[in-house]
Amino acid sequence: MGNPLNTTVKKRVTLTFPKRVVQMPVTYRLARDFNVAANIIRAQVAPNQIGKLVVELSGDIDELDAAIEWMRSQNITVSLALGEIIIDEDVCVHCGLCTGVCPTEALKIDPQTDKLTFTRSRCIVCEQCIPTCPVEAISTNL
Ligand code: SF4
Ligand code: SF4
Repeated sequence: MGNPLNTTVKKRVTLTFPKRVVQMPVTYRLARDFNVAANIIRAQVAPNQIGKLVVELSGDIDELDAAIEWMRSQNITVSLALGEIIIDEDVCVHCGLCTGVCPTEALKIDPQTDKLTFTRSRCIVCEQCIPTCPVEAISTNL
């Protein structure tokens, strides 16, 4: 954790634009008005269609919330629930390494069975577990 007065966070969101705001320079407005950086991870904007952007927003936690509120006021749908962690059970060797980095205990080794358990409802899709797995059993569907 950094300075408590200026807590920088990152959030991955999916933005869905109605037709009339597709052309709006959203990332520019986020940077200028809220000091929020928007790193575009995936863009899916076709002419005359609803546009979709997957972006990683980073900035001060309060400004980030204000930026999200502003986008919603512009009729942009902001979805925080995107991407899911996928554990390939055929590949996992239940070594437990991923559980060491999981901040929410979504990944745990069941003491009864010595097997990995994944509680999806606890997962915040921080992706920290992905690089820890020696057999590449963890991925996202992003
Ligand atoms: S993505 Fe993050 S919260 Fe989800 S299981 Fe992996 S380490 Fe845990
Ligand atoms: S690090 Fe990979 S192999 Fe080990 S328990 Fe986690 S998912 Fe399974």
